[in-house]
Amino acid sequence: MSNSLPFNASMLSGLFTPLSPEQEPDHTPGFWAVLQGSSLLVPAGLQQARLPYGALPADMVPQTEPLKIGLWQGKPLRALRIAASDMLPLEHEALPFQGPDSRLDNTLATIAGRAAQIMHWERRSRFCSHCGGRMTRIPAGWGKRCISCGDEHFPHIHPCIIVLVRRGAELLLIRKAAWNPGRFSLVAGFLDFGESLEECVQREVREEAEIEVTNIRYVGSQCWPFPSQQMIGFLADYVSGEVKPDGVEVVEAVWFDEAALPESPGGKRSIARWIMEMYGKN
Ligand SMILES: [Zn+2]
Repeated sequence: MSNSLPFNASMLSGLFTPLSPEQEPDHTPGFWAVLQGSSLLVPAGLQQARLPYGALPADMVPQTEPLKIGLWQGKPLRALRIAASDMLPLEHEALPFQGPDSRLDNTLATIAGRAAQIMHWERRSRFCSHCGGRMTRIPAGWGKRCISCGDEHFPHIHPCIIVLVRRGAELLLIRKAAWNPGRFSLVAGFLDFGESLEECVQREVREEAEIEVTNIRYVGSQCWPFPSQQMIGFLADYVSGEVKPDGVEVVEAVWFDEAALPESPGGKRSIARWIMEMYGKN
């Protein structure tokens, strides 16, 4: 089940209880999810990283107010950011939570992702996108209401399809222009106005590789907090056309034999990798 993927809530079951933001001050000691870019600050030198607990390091300068996002092992968990240019506090290191660092297990990567996604929304929901007025919290959730025009705004989570296309024993992988040579992944893209998820799959495959697909079936989904996508995974079968990359967004579109795939398509914690492992062999 895709529930067990990193960044999905099930990864945190038994460890984390989400809470909507508290209005009243709470000074109980707790854990910290301190982010610098897409890295999580942890005590230095541990084989298995853990969240910092208790008082914040004295030499740390938070860029944002601490935000209580839930309970971690029964204690308050507060999230905040430090600037990308800040020196790390003494005896701490910052581990990238999207990437493959094995000292940061999937549960810590997932809680860091949750904190990142919430803080991304908080930073971008201070003012109303309709009238520019200040926003205030709607109780019991992460939604906001404009104090000027009354518009209500809810967290922006962007749906994005990702699809493994099969032709017999061959699988379609693409390389985007921004990726290093040799790095391939699955066709993926954002849902557009006026289309179903299946239509989005057909359009993205057409745009990125100029082929037609059919028999589109859903296999699973993943929260992808970089910064706030919902990845919706599909399989599809080839129908017609010669693969041809668009040459702009996609520079290579290649049929790979399922027995000779390139190294780890997608990141270690991504649904691309999971789809390949689950469905990449006949
Ligand atoms: Zn407004």
